[in-house]
Amino acid sequence: MQKAQIRQWDDGSGLKWLYLDMNSFFASCEQQADPCLRGRPLIVVPVDSEYTCAIAASQEAKRLGIKTGTQVKIAKQICPDLKVVQARPDEYVRIHHRILEEVDHVIPVEKICSIDEVACRLMGPETVEAAARALGHRIQRRILSNIGECLTASIGLAPSRMLAKTAADMQKPLGMTVLRRDQLPGPLLDIDIGDFPGIGPATKARLFRAGISDPRQLWHLSPSRMRQLWGGIGGDQFWYALRGVDPPEIETERGSISHSHVLAVELRPVEAARAVARRLTAKCGSRLRRMGYKCGGLHLSIRGTQEGRAQAERLFMATADSFRMLEAADALWDVCVRTLNQTSIKKVSVTCMRLVPADTAPDLFGYSPAADEDPRHMRLLEAIDALNQRFGKDRISIGPKPKLHEFVGAKIAFNRVPETPEFWE
Ligand SMILES: [Mg+2]
Repeated sequence: MQKAQIRQWDDGSGLKWLYLDMNSFFASCEQQADPCLRGRPLIVVPVDSEYTCAIAASQEAKRLGIKTGTQVKIAKQICPDLKVVQARPDEYVRIHHRILEEVDHVIPVEKICSIDEVACRLMGPETVEAAARALGHRIQRRILSNIGECLTASIGLAPSRMLAKTAADMQKPLGMTVLRRDQLPGPLLDIDIGDFPGIGPATKARLFRAGISDPRQLWHLSPSRMRQLWGGIGGDQFWYALRGVDPPEIETERGSISHSHVLAVELRPVEAARAVARRLTAKCGSRLRRMGYKCGGLHLSIRGTQEGRAQAERLFMATADSFRMLEAADALWDVCVRTLNQTSIKKVSVTCMRLVPADTAPDLFGYSPAADEDPRHMRLLEAIDALNQRFGKDRISIGPKPKLHEFVGAKIAFNRVPETPEFWE
């Protein structure tokens, strides 16, 4: 059953990553803040000087050939009407966090790559192209409607993180580019080799000296030749990444699922906050089951309203049994609350670690990752999942749901369950 499902999810696209890159991020933040700046050529500068360089340029400025790195003086020669705005890092960081929240509502963020770029891992049914595109569109829409209409994002979907980043860069603004494994190298052959992540000016120059200037030549290099040209293992890794295979350190980055929630005032007392931790844990459990995964550990972290945070983790035999996970969460909760020693909790985060596919075969010693699941629990959970999928999230839950209405009304990470159930059946 599991096996058949996995085969059904393999549409040949090999998609594993969703990469989000905000378009002209700092300039877009400024246009969002001040409507007078919208639709106009604009650059953002670090200091007020004619001799400094732009750290961002709006779409309108880019169309005139002004870009990040263009000197203010030269930019003004190109466009006398240019608006020059001094950077406000605090504002960009604030919006960065808002973007993380919005992405996190749709799919967990695996890696924050920069202030305006994040990578998310696609799992199970999310790896089907139509589903991955739908997730991307939801993220784009959420950012536009919940943060600001100027904040456009380009999204790349691909089998390796490097290719997903490449894809995100291929279409702007508001792009959605898919690089399917079964279509490689096709779309890559139109890319300037200096536009691949991992080919900086120095590498590009070295490649050029070796007579390699177009992507077709790049594609046909052998791994060992690439290692030689890159001067190290980076070359081999690039060879694999280009073919949609992540380098080992990315592959072995522990897969995880996280849910976190900043608590409204009424949920801050320890007992109310504990219920939040349990609900976040249950949500992780249902997401694991939907993805066809089990986890081998749980991490809990809490932040008090005064300075300070506490965290603890526990490893166990792989499971997707929410009741087992809740036992662990309860134990971790007690440890964290004791360590934090405050009566009011501001933020709760739960992470399932060490994910393994649910159909992983028993190992040589006959140990099966399914060992720590109570079949009765699993039947019950299957029924709960089915009902929640049919009648809406949180229809049926495990344990008490204190103040559910405020809870659901607040900005919470619970509605990560995609709204397009047809992808999840
Ligand atoms: Mg960007």
